[in-house]
Amino acid sequence: MVKQKIAAAPSIRRLPAYLHLVRQAQREGLQYISGTAIAQELNLEPIQVRKDLSITHIMGKPKKGYSVASLIGAIEHFLSWDTTRRAVLIGAGNLGTALLGYQEFQYHGLQVVAAFDVNPEKIGSRIHQVPVFSVETLEQEIPTRGVKTALLTVPSHAAQAITEILIRVGIEGIWNFTKAKLRVPDTMVVQKEDLSSGYALFCVMMQARQLESYSSS
Ligand code: ATP
Repeated sequence: MVKQKIAAAPSIRRLPAYLHLVRQAQREGLQYISGTAIAQELNLEPIQVRKDLSITHIMGKPKKGYSVASLIGAIEHFLSWDTTRRAVLIGAGNLGTALLGYQEFQYHGLQVVAAFDVNPEKIGSRIHQVPVFSVETLEQEIPTRGVKTALLTVPSHAAQAITEILIRVGIEGIWNFTKAKLRVPDTMVVQKEDLSSGYALFCVMMQARQLESYSSS
């Protein structure tokens, strides 16, 4: 099952853009939306859109397209954004603080219920309403909170040691924002988020654009 979902990763990455668009269509009062309209709006091929949406098992109606309400429900359900996922965040620094304040997560069902840090000035405080605990209390706090997901925003050198604790306390998935390649059991889900990789692509596109404009001037 996990492997099947990984095979569909590029389609899954496009689903939030579809969801955003379809929610907007709903706010505008539309009842149906066609794959072609979605494709036009997002600069994609209609066949790609239909293939992507088919992973949610939604069926369109000939001539009408997809029911907007059903499509929202199907995407949310496929992504499990229609259920609450309780999570903890480890490392309430600059990036951690930004994630704690990111309002969009509420639409994804992601609820960060506690943060952990080593800094005595942060321990005992609240950041965007989320209480910050000492990282030394991870083993006591996590099992009492029914949490299976952790967002990891500690410095990279601290990531593996924290991961070992997270494995011990029954965390099943880590959204890893550090540069560290985590060593985990096969049963654990790890998604590594590298903000620099998107920026790298951006930089190369900017360079190419500049070269084009020099050569045409
Ligand atoms: P700040 O300037 O607030 O420290 P930062 O994002 O620049 O933020 P980093 O060095 O990246 O700082 O650390 C991120 C956060 O992780 C900080 O709040 C830091 O106190 C915390 N931290 C560092 N080591 C650990 C650890 N072993 N366990 C938990 N938190 C840690």
